Amino acid sequence: MNAGRAQSGQGVDALTFALHGLAVSSGIAIGHAQLISHATLEVDQYQLREREVAAELSRFDEALETVRAELGQLKLEAEASVGAAVELSAFVDLQLMFLDDPLLAAASRVLIKERRCNAEWALVQQMEYLVAQFDEMEDAYLRERKQDIVQVVERILKVLMGRARKIGKRKGREDVPAIVVAHDLSPADTIQFKRLSIGGFVTDLGGATSHTAIVARSLAIPAVVGLHHARSLIRDDDLLIVDGTRGVLIVNPDERVLEEYRLRQGELQIERNKLKRLRTARTQTLDGEDVQLYANIELPQDIDQVKEVGAAGVGLFRTEFLFMNRDDLPSEDEQFEAYRRVVKTLADKPVTIRTLDVGADKQSRALRTFSQTSGGRTEPNPALGRRAIRYCLAEPQIFLTHLRAILRASQYGKAYILIPMLAHAHEIEQTLEMIALAKQQLRDARIKFDDTIKVGGMIEIPAAAMALGPFLKRLDFLSIGTNDLIQYTLAIDRSDEAVAHLYDPLHPAVLRLVAQTIERGNRAGLPVAVCGEMAGDVNMTRLLLGMGLRKFSLHPAQLLEVRQQVLKSDAAALQVAVTRLLRLDDSARIREQLAKINA
Ligand code: PEP
Ligand code: MG
Repeated sequence: MNAGRAQSGQGVDALTFALHGLAVSSGIAIGHAQLISHATLEVDQYQLREREVAAELSRFDEALETVRAELGQLKLEAEASVGAAVELSAFVDLQLMFLDDPLLAAASRVLIKERRCNAEWALVQQMEYLVAQFDEMEDAYLRERKQDIVQVVERILKVLMGRARKIGKRKGREDVPAIVVAHDLSPADTIQFKRLSIGGFVTDLGGATSHTAIVARSLAIPAVVGLHHARSLIRDDDLLIVDGTRGVLIVNPDERVLEEYRLRQGELQIERNKLKRLRTARTQTLDGEDVQLYANIELPQDIDQVKEVGAAGVGLFRTEFLFMNRDDLPSEDEQFEAYRRVVKTLADKPVTIRTLDVGADKQSRALRTFSQTSGGRTEPNPALGRRAIRYCLAEPQIFLTHLRAILRASQYGKAYILIPMLAHAHEIEQTLEMIALAKQQLRDARIKFDDTIKVGGMIEIPAAAMALGPFLKRLDFLSIGTNDLIQYTLAIDRSDEAVAHLYDPLHPAVLRLVAQTIERGNRAGLPVAVCGEMAGDVNMTRLLLGMGLRKFSLHPAQLLEVRQQVLKSDAAALQVAVTRLLRLDDSARIREQLAKINA
């Protein structure tokens, strides 16, 4: 990171400086900073004046009362539903107990009264004290209960801080978009931007293929992550330029720099408009090879963009986003409606619905609550833990509901089921048994579905790519998830900016796993797609074509550019060049070779 400071001509307080981070979503945004905080540790901390203490205590008590009412309501709802109701209401009881525990409520009041801390600060201090106590407990069950304290504190903080401050254009500033500045954003936070009008975002943390970055690309808004200190250096309302292509953030630029970026922004818009001509073009290489470009989506409303760019269908519907930002689980009917909307809208085009891939950086409050009630625990290493299909197989009730919803939607068009994170043959078998069971349940209830629905597997764990046999034998298609394949091959956390420089799609080991999966799938006559971020990177298009890939799944915002690249490529020539490239062991030479291929 580089933070050069200089006085600008905009007044004594407006400092001009630039920060360098990871470019995760291209384009240029110019707008005003809106600082947001989410993590509990980011709460405002200030000293109260003596005369403010009484009001602060009432504010604190009112927040406790609101949370007590919320939990009471949740308990009523749990009792009225079937299934995990008993466990869920026990879980709510536990939270209510912590809410009234003098070590939380009364001790926080003392901090407000005697140390004159604001309520949020007092609460977080007390929570940290209690969490430290729990960490020292020998009994694993009791140690895990610290999660309940954290959750109840998060609920109180949410009430104290008000629902997240309204993000979007400011009154009197309608001409400039808001640029969100945060220490960190979870994918659950970022997905909410789909409903808001924001120009871009920047964060201190995050990696290039974290799901937060992926959502930014799907929103087609410029974003830079891994800026380290942006949240503490930038002030609300500072004028910002986000250069999402180069990974640069300029704070309070002078008029000359601003003019330069406005010009560049205009040029980019012209280029984007030109690409629109390709919306209806057939995706074919110069030597007549047909290529299918599918779209990746997170929410049903994304389907409008899919149609706009003329995608061949949906290659990856990340269903887990339907489970985020809510306290309750989406019911079977609610899920069914969401999947049906997409399947029906695309009619004869395939919609590949990936089963729930929760875990690692994609967390769902509702699922966390559910899992706690069914004996959940804090995972020491979530990316290697009970993620995706592992979670679903461990929670059959959730998985069956989810599968029934997908199956029910299948009769309205052409739906496929895609299973994430498979590594073992027995996981494939267990999954297929669960699908068969969900089908039987629907048959018993006389509900229609497409009995011939195709089931595919994601190849995103190196073990799967290296031992493809059971996948080829038991599944109908493959989809390579390069984001995780790279993460697990190179043993680097895709959402950690500290190791982002080691995240390398061109590492020879990664390339061989991808190439070999495509080759073996093609040879076995099984359709193979790539749905990770490599598929949407125009610098990788020719490489993948040369490996024999003919199905790409990418964000709609990237689709036209990739189509343009396919139209300019010769598949036969690429096959020869890429075969040669794959023999190289040295990343630098691979890069050189690829640059020549792309020239
Ligand atoms: C991948 O891992 O490449 C993928 C497409 O899935 P996700 O990014 O949702 O993990
Ligand atoms: Mg993945």
